[in-house]
Amino acid sequence: MLKAYIVSTGTELLLGQTPDTNSLFISRALTQMGIKVMGKAVVGDNHEYIRRAFSTGLETTDLVICSGGLGPTRDDLTKQVVCEVLGCKLERRPEEEECIKEFFARRHRRMPDSNLRQALFPSDAEALPNPLGTAPGMYLEKDGKTIVLLPGPPREMEPMFRAEVAPRLRRRVGQQKQVVLSRVIKVLGPGESQVEEMLQEVLEDPQGAAIALLAQDGEIHIRITLEDSLERATRTLQELEDRIIGVMGWHVVGFDQDTLPEVVGKLLREAGLQVAFAESCTGGLAAKLITDLPGSSEFFWGGAVSYANEAKMELLGVSESTLSEYGAVSPETAKEMARGIRERAGVDIGISITGIAGPGGGSSEKPVGLVYMGLADNREVKVKEQRFIGGREAVRILTAKSALDWLRRYLIGRG
Ligand code: AMP
Ligand code: MG
Repeated sequence: MLKAYIVSTGTELLLGQTPDTNSLFISRALTQMGIKVMGKAVVGDNHEYIRRAFSTGLETTDLVICSGGLGPTRDDLTKQVVCEVLGCKLERRPEEEECIKEFFARRHRRMPDSNLRQALFPSDAEALPNPLGTAPGMYLEKDGKTIVLLPGPPREMEPMFRAEVAPRLRRRVGQQKQVVLSRVIKVLGPGESQVEEMLQEVLEDPQGAAIALLAQDGEIHIRITLEDSLERATRTLQELEDRIIGVMGWHVVGFDQDTLPEVVGKLLREAGLQVAFAESCTGGLAAKLITDLPGSSEFFWGGAVSYANEAKMELLGVSESTLSEYGAVSPETAKEMARGIRERAGVDIGISITGIAGPGGGSSEKPVGLVYMGLADNREVKVKEQRFIGGREAVRILTAKSALDWLRRYLIGRG
């Protein structure tokens, strides 16, 4: 089976100025394709370190994918280093020179001579077109090894990877006998050890797969990884997935890249329902999560960040007596908030959140992390108590996600 090594170059990555998102994107894409990523290196624009990274990759794996350092300037060294490591020469490609000249001509800009360096390629390398920039990429197969060079800017690298690199690699994977497939099943609700307990039977008989549990922002991610022939791996993966879904049921929020807001948005859209939020301790975080989705105005009306008692009264119509009798963090207030926002917005569903995010403001009766949420529809107003543990940020994010998850469960008839 194919093994890969990823190299990210650029001094800005070492200074902590630019996060190395390229290697994350490439890791994900390779894994999905059934290529096993063995390691990666992040190096500066430094000849010696780039050389070492390539040497390690080529000695230990079949495929080295590098991003960055294809620019026209002196610190763009990648192609030079590759030639050195492979013992080949850089040669001029007149057709690539034309592409680069044209790129400038279309923008009515003068081309600095240095840009012609981008048309130099190691012999035998294929140039990969870059419609979004001047640096072409490179694909080279030599002595059973594959070397791929991609431009640094993610907005150029990602499309080039999808259009040029992925199809070539898929063909190579197709020739392999063994592949690695993986799947992530995301659950929300039960904790890590509870999930482990629920999955006991699956974990004891994983059908040759590796199954790992990862806790992430209140969700538990169950990751299945399998190494087998494509056909067998596909079948086993499906069987394991079915077994896990069978046990976890409606706790399953989504798969792989799915996010909770996306799943909720999709359900709301399908049901043709609109929702509005009344948020206190989350300060609008639930609304932020849902509006991260493009097109969310279709199902999200908006909301109120009703932090002070007066805001709860004025924006939502919570009664003064409820607040003074039961307090702002109480089932009664949560109920009135949910009903209030639903009525004022004139939408199908109103969701409310009120709680104590901490670090101060807690008492033995109402500790930090205590949250009440309300859900109002055209029939009733339900309220739910939750207790979260963690600092202010953790409590807020867990609360917002938990509210979205309640909405998800409600929409699938489980809330
Ligand atoms: P380069 O192709 O080396 O000229 O890279 C140009 C720009 O791409 C850099 O200034 C960064 O902003 C961006 N970039 C380079 N490498 C990465 C990476 N690994 N992840 C995210 N962005 C990157
Ligand atoms: Mg660079």
